[in-house]
Amino acid sequence: MKPRNGSELFTLRGARVIDPAVGWDAQADLCVQAGCIKWLAEDRKPEGRIMDVGGLVVTPGLIDMHVHLREPGFEHKETIATGTRAAVAGGFTTVCSMPNTDPPIDRPERVADLLNRIKGDAVCRVLPIGAATLEHGKDRLTDFQALLQAGCVAITDDAFPIQDFRLKCATASQAAATGALFIAHCEDNNYSVDGVMNKGSVSRELGVPGQNAASEQIAMLDWNRAATQAGVADSFKLHLAHVSSDYTLRSLEFLLDSPDHIQHLSLETAPHYFALTAEAVREHGSNAKMNPPLREEADVAAIKRAVADGTIQVLATDHAPHSPEEKALGLADAPFGIVGLETCLGVALAELVHSGVMSLPELLATMTCNPARILGIESGTLAPGSPADITIIDPDTEWAVEPEAFQSKGKNTPFVGRALKGRVWGTIVGGRFVVREGELL
Ligand SMILES: [Zn+2]
Repeated sequence: MKPRNGSELFTLRGARVIDPAVGWDAQADLCVQAGCIKWLAEDRKPEGRIMDVGGLVVTPGLIDMHVHLREPGFEHKETIATGTRAAVAGGFTTVCSMPNTDPPIDRPERVADLLNRIKGDAVCRVLPIGAATLEHGKDRLTDFQALLQAGCVAITDDAFPIQDFRLKCATASQAAATGALFIAHCEDNNYSVDGVMNKGSVSRELGVPGQNAASEQIAMLDWNRAATQAGVADSFKLHLAHVSSDYTLRSLEFLLDSPDHIQHLSLETAPHYFALTAEAVREHGSNAKMNPPLREEADVAAIKRAVADGTIQVLATDHAPHSPEEKALGLADAPFGIVGLETCLGVALAELVHSGVMSLPELLATMTCNPARILGIESGTLAPGSPADITIIDPDTEWAVEPEAFQSKGKNTPFVGRALKGRVWGTIVGGRFVVREGELL
């Protein structure tokens, strides 16, 4: 979806410009014209209006592969208007919308309706993801080719993870035949059962059912087996959503050692999986309830390592807003999910960059060129001629998370009150400022 491009000619002057796509990290000026990057240079005469952004970081607009915008059907949780405002406030210029709406995005005419709504209401680019099964069911696959042609960028079973092995084989076959990227929510219900949080000492003490952490790992191995059985291990493009567990990462190591494994495999995680453990559920209750659930210290350490060494290539939010009334149902009955668009960058900077786990360019790659490459989209770089989707970061500002100030309708976050360092100063979509000096325009 293309928002209206800006027409202004301007130069952002004096920032540290980081473009991980081309390995650029230097103080430079960036010129924008007619919605596109005109040039990036260390020493060139500025053109048009000059904006001094010394001391700030200029980077390609952030891309979030995993967002629940909730519209149509759940507008009391979030809308395309509020969700994309939350996105740009968090520095995202492109978000992928998950299909578990009502009706679900499972046929071309529903994609068309969604694209219409996006055209009317979105303040950033929104790329729809299509559902793998019809009507959130467990038996009939959708027509992947038709969904792609209608405008979807990927197909997913998120929120309704496919369990049946033969259906997994058929999914892998159809995805491979159509070239669709398949985004898997890896969860084996035999192990997650009706758990409301991770199975461990905290779930036992709170007296609530827990999900066995092996659930994710076993589902991942099953997808690999399905692709092999279907004979498409070399062509099936599989992206693992929200990886949360050390078991999964250790299994992956063995998997990659075996002769037949999926060749096109990418992994994503979300900030809460490296910033929090199941202990957060004690304090935040249902606002720390998401699926997969928060795990243990060893998982947090493993996820951090995997993001730093490139085993996990993508940082996404799994932004999943719910109303206060729904979250007030308590740990056992409240729906899964937390909001993430407006805290992602701050939490990632604090936990990964300021703490020395990885460099800023390495982090930004997981939010710009890596998701762009996996999705096959043209954003994610500041190379001349690219769309002028730009995020400007103030890396050192200290702030505390106040959900009441969120643009999102969802206030359900376990990061409430958390002190963070580094936040979004500006967001430019197609050459137009939508956030400047931290304020939504
Ligand atoms: Zn999911």
